[in-house]
Amino acid sequence: MQQYIDSYDFNGKKAIVRVDFNVPLDENFNITDDTRIRRAIPTLKKVLAGGGSLIIMSHLGRPKKVDPKFSLGHIVGRVSECLGVPVQFADDCQKAAAQAAALKPGEVLLLENLRYYAEEEGKPRGLAEDASDDEKKAAKAAVKASQKEFTKTLASYADCYINDAFGTAHRAHASTALIAEYFPNDKMFGYLMEGEIKAIDNVLKNAQRPLTAIIGGSKVSSKLAVLKNLVGKVDNLIIGGGMGYTFVKAQGGNVGNSLHEDELIPDALEILKEAKEKGVNVSLSVAAVCAQEFSNDAPRKVFPIDQIPEDWEGMDASDASLENWKKIILASKTVLWNGPVGVFELPNFAKGTLQIAEDLAEATKLGAYTLVGGGDSVAAVTKMGYSDKVSYVSTGGGAMLEAIEGKILPGIAAIQE
Ligand code: AMP
Repeated sequence: MQQYIDSYDFNGKKAIVRVDFNVPLDENFNITDDTRIRRAIPTLKKVLAGGGSLIIMSHLGRPKKVDPKFSLGHIVGRVSECLGVPVQFADDCQKAAAQAAALKPGEVLLLENLRYYAEEEGKPRGLAEDASDDEKKAAKAAVKASQKEFTKTLASYADCYINDAFGTAHRAHASTALIAEYFPNDKMFGYLMEGEIKAIDNVLKNAQRPLTAIIGGSKVSSKLAVLKNLVGKVDNLIIGGGMGYTFVKAQGGNVGNSLHEDELIPDALEILKEAKEKGVNVSLSVAAVCAQEFSNDAPRKVFPIDQIPEDWEGMDASDASLENWKKIILASKTVLWNGPVGVFELPNFAKGTLQIAEDLAEATKLGAYTLVGGGDSVAAVTKMGYSDKVSYVSTGGGAMLEAIEGKILPGIAAIQE
C-alpha cells in the first residue's frame, strides 16, 4: 500500500531513500551543478525533522566495476552542506549493515555508488564479445538471481523506502523498483517524485485547453513514440529542430543537407494523417536559418523550409517560424516542451530555442501551466534565468520522455501497486 511522505510517521524509523545524485563533476571531482542534490533536500529534511534517520542511495555515472572516479565519496561534503548535518559514508553499499544499524534519529548515511555492482541494473557485465546466445542467457540468469540478494541486503538496512529519483524512474533497477516489494506498507514517493508525477498528470490527464506540445531535438526516431502518443491528446503539436525536416520531406519539400530520416517518412505521414483526422494543428517551421557547414561561424542564410538548396543545412528556426509558434504558445493554457528547435550547442543557432524558453515564461505569466523537460530545453530555460518563471522544470530526461509516451514507469508502478 502506498504511503504519503507528508503523513508518514518517521519517528524512530530508518528510511532508505533512492535519490538521483548523478551530478556532473569536473576533472578534480568538484560538482559543477548541484541541482540534483538540492532538489532532493526537502524529502531528506522531512525524514530528519520527523525524528527518522536516513540511508541515502544513488548511482553516479556509468561505472562497470568499482572505480574511484565514480565514487559518491566525492559528494559527501556537498550533501552535508545542503542538509546542514554531518553525513557518514559507507564505502560499499552491500556492506553497510553495521553502519545502518548504528544510525540514531537525525543521523545520515550515504551509500557508495550502487552501480559498482552489476546487480543494481540486473545486466551482466564482462561478457566476451563473441559470447554465444546460451552464454548470454546464462549470464543474465546469474545476475538476475544475485540481484534478489543484492536488493534484500539494501532493504534490510531500513524500516521504510522512499523513491525520490525521477531521473531513473523508467528503469526497473534494484534500488528504483525491486526494493519496494520489501516494504509493502512502508513505501512512498519523495516530494520530487510527487512533483514530477503531478506535473505530467497536469499535462497528460488534467490539462486545461488549448494544450500545446513543442517537440524538438535531432531525430524523429528517438521521439516517435512521444509524437504518436501526443498526437491523440494535444490541440497543437509544434515540431521543431532536426526532426522537423523528415516531416517536410514527407510532404514533398526539399530539405537539402538537413538532418532527416527517410525510413521514417511513412511514420511522419501517419502522424500527419492522424493529426488531420483528430483536428490537431501540426505546426512546422515555415523557414529555416541554414548553413553550409555544421559550425558556429558558418555564414547563415534563411530559406523557406521546403526549398533548402542541396548543400545547405537547416540549423535553427527562422523569425517567421518563431512568430507563428509564439502566437500558438501564448494562446495555450497548457504547454509541454521537450527538445531544442535548433542546434542549441552552437550559440549562433541557439536563438530559436532561447525564444521558446522566453515564450513559455510569458505564457506562464498569462496563466498557462508550462512543463519543460530534456537536457537542452532545461538548459535554455536556465540560461535565460527562467527556471522560476515556468510552472515546472523536470529533472528526468529519459523518464519524462517515457512518461509522455504514455508508459507506466517501473519506479512509479512499484510504489503505487
Ligand atoms: P534530442 O536529444 O533528441 O532532444 O536532440 C538534441 C539535439 O538535437 C541537440 O544536440 C541539437 O543540436 C540537435 N538539433 C536540433 N536541431 C537540429 C538541426 N536542425 N540539425 C541538427 N541537429 C539539431
